[in-house]
Amino acid sequence: MRTTARRDGDDWVLNGSKMFITNGVHGEIFFVAAKTGDAGRNHQISMFIVEKGTPGFSVARPLRKHGWLSSDTAELVFDNCRIPSGNLLGEENKGFYALVKNLQNERIVLAAQAMGEASKAIELTVDWVTQRKAFGATLWDKQAIRQRMAMLSARVEAAKALIYNTAWRDAQNQVVVSEASMLKALCGELVNEVMYDCLQFHGGMGYVRETAIERMTRDARIQSIGGGATEVMLDEIAKRMG
Ligand SMILES: Cc1cc2nc3c(=O)[nH]c(=O)nc-3n(C[C@H](O)[C@H](O)[C@H](O)COP(=O)(O)OP(=O)(O)OC[C@H]3O[C@@H](n4cnc5c(N)ncnc54)[C@H](O)[C@@H]3O)c2cc1C
Repeated sequence: MRTTARRDGDDWVLNGSKMFITNGVHGEIFFVAAKTGDAGRNHQISMFIVEKGTPGFSVARPLRKHGWLSSDTAELVFDNCRIPSGNLLGEENKGFYALVKNLQNERIVLAAQAMGEASKAIELTVDWVTQRKAFGATLWDKQAIRQRMAMLSARVEAAKALIYNTAWRDAQNQVVVSEASMLKALCGELVNEVMYDCLQFHGGMGYVRETAIERMTRDARIQSIGGGATEVMLDEIAKRMG
C-alpha cells in the first residue's frame, strides 16, 4: 500500500491511487485505507471516508473488463485530497485490523456467491443436455456427460456444506481464518471448472453471446483472482498447517 494520509491542521491530506475499485465510477461514498505512518508493515494504516466530489479525488478511468460488465470497476486517484479530521473511520492506525476482519467475511461471501453461480450453471446445463439431441439420443444419454455433471454437483454440494459450517462458526465468533481461505481457494477454482464443463456441454451454443452460460463463464473467471488470488489463499492455509 502506497497511498498516504498526513495530518495538516484539522484536516487529513490523502495522496496516492487505487486500482480495481468495484463501484468506483458510480459510488458516492468511499472507505479508503491509507498509510498514516512508516513504522511496521501493517500497523500504521487508517481508514477514511471520502465523498465523491471532494477536490483532489477523481476517477481516473473506468476499466474495460473480461466479465462482470454490469459492475463498474475503476481506478481512483487522490491528489492532495483534503478531508476533515472527522472523516477518520475508527481509530487512527487500527485500519489494518478493520481490513482483516472484513476479509474473513468477504472470503466466505465470495465462496457462497461462486457456489450459487455453479449450481445455476449445472441446472441450466442439465436442462440443456436433457433436451438437446445429437447422434440419435439426448446428450444426457451419454454416460460421460451425465456422470461428469453428477460429480460436479457432488463437489458443489460438499463445498456448500463447508460454507454453511464456516459461516455458522464465524457467527459464533470462532476463528475461521484457515477455513475462510480454504473456501475462497476451493470455490474460486471449482466454479471455473464447473463453468468450463457447462459451456463445453452446450457445444457451439455455449460460445455465443445469446446463452447465459457464455456470460456466466466470463463472470466466474474473477472468482479465483479477486478478493485474494487462489495462490495467496493457499499460502494463508499452509502458514497455519506447518
Ligand atoms: C473486477 C475486479 C474488481 C475488484 N474490486 C476490488 C475492490 O473493490 N477493492 C479492492 O481493494 N480490490 C479489488 N480488486 C482487486 C483484486 O482483489 C486483485 O486484483 C487481486 O487480489 C489480485 O491482485 P493483483 O491484481 O494485484 O495481482 P498480483 O498481485 O499482480 O498477482 C497476479 C497473480 O500472481 C499470482 N500470485 C500473486 N501472489 C502470489 C503468491 N504469493 N504466490 C503465488 N502466486 C501468487 C496469482 O495467480 C495472481 O492472480 C478487484 C479486481 C478486479 C479484477
